[in-house]
Amino acid sequence: MSIPGNNRTVFGVLLPLILVVAAVAAVGATGRLELAHVQVAGQPTAILEEVPGPDAGAACALDAWYVDEPPEGLRPDVLGAWQRLRAEAGEQGVRLCLQDGKRSTGQQQREFTEAVRLFGTPELAGIYVLPPEKSMHVKGIAIDVQPAASAAWVERNGHALGWCRSHQDEYRHFEYDPAYATAGCPAPLPVATGPGEVPGPETGPVCPLDKRYVDEEPQGPRPDVLDGWKRLRAKAETQGVRLCVQDSKRSVAQQQREFTEAVRRFGTPELAARYVLPPEKSMHVKGIAVDIQPTASAAWVEGNGRALGWCRRYENEYWHFEYDPAYETGGCPAMLPSATGS
Ligand SMILES: [Zn+2]
Repeated sequence: MSIPGNNRTVFGVLLPLILVVAAVAAVGATGRLELAHVQVAGQPTAILEEVPGPDAGAACALDAWYVDEPPEGLRPDVLGAWQRLRAEAGEQGVRLCLQDGKRSTGQQQREFTEAVRLFGTPELAGIYVLPPEKSMHVKGIAIDVQPAASAAWVERNGHALGWCRSHQDEYRHFEYDPAYATAGCPAPLPVATGPGEVPGPETGPVCPLDKRYVDEEPQGPRPDVLDGWKRLRAKAETQGVRLCVQDSKRSVAQQQREFTEAVRRFGTPELAARYVLPPEKSMHVKGIAVDIQPTASAAWVEGNGRALGWCRRYENEYWHFEYDPAYETGGCPAMLPSATGS
């Protein structure tokens, strides 16, 4: 995706010029200074991609963890469709918070660059944050709706107004196309490359509550899972409970090393799988699981995590919790005897 340096220079010089010309043209046409997010007939879409959206917004009235930003900068027909969607939801007593709408190329590039710093390479970063030329937020046709229950409402009701969820791994992300209203939603796309290649920390500092455990900084989970984790930790802190993270994200390679070691110790893959899951089955590889220690901290999560989307899943692993925003509203699924089903 890299923009060669000389092209970037050309962009840096030309774009401000184009914007100035567009602004002057807009002033000429309307008599007041409006930038390009005001609909100008015949305006090239390239300009739309330079239109920024808000960087933040007021706190979402349903959940202050999220924001409800003004829908500025969206393509005009998309803005109209968003207003219709919100009105329809309101009639059914559902409030939608706009976590994120329009982004400019520059805003998306900043997020992408930060993700590259966090994950190490553009390929890994691209699993979680799209480069500007691929982002539908930059094109002004995408919205992220929060909280989870509001996004679920949009998934059920949005297509009649042209809004469809487009990715299997992003419950909050919807894209507008008037054709969806008649043709229905296309099948959501699977994750492009999968989060399995993103590694997590190998270890961390000693857990201050119990030195048999570590407290690693979760790195590499899906961004919504990481958000969910931070909320869980913050809630525990308000109740004087400290959570230590014994293990969180693992890459396929990390999990494979553990599995191979277990096969060596126990003799066969079948026996090894009772203790360590192969990579394709591990929720740590998918980036949705956190192992919490010590026992009392894990017990606190079992009692309080559900409201924030965290559930214990296995009877034989008191420490293992998985995140799914659907748990917040639907409750925890029945616990399984073990991760291997045996
Ligand atoms: Zn686990």
